[in-house]
Amino acid sequence: MFRLLFWIAVIFAAFWLWRRFNRPAVSKAQEKPSEANPQPMVRCEQCGIHVPRQNALSKDSQWFCSQAHLEQGHSGSEQ
Ligand SMILES: [Zn+2]
Repeated sequence: MFRLLFWIAVIFAAFWLWRRFNRPAVSKAQEKPSEANPQPMVRCEQCGIHVPRQNALSKDSQWFCSQAHLEQGHSGSEQ
């Protein structure tokens, strides 16, 4: 009797694992909203704030949150 329950548990575990590996699309669909909207964040070299790359300004492979910080950071790095 105990052996029967053991095998039932094994079969259930195998079935659960099989279902998990057989349907990776379901779990990926739940993760997609975060992947579908990737907001690449960059760090302002001047103040260290993180801003979306779309709103950031780049100069010499450095990123800045605003025009003022771009000019400050650029002049500061030259000195
Ligand atoms: Zn800044």
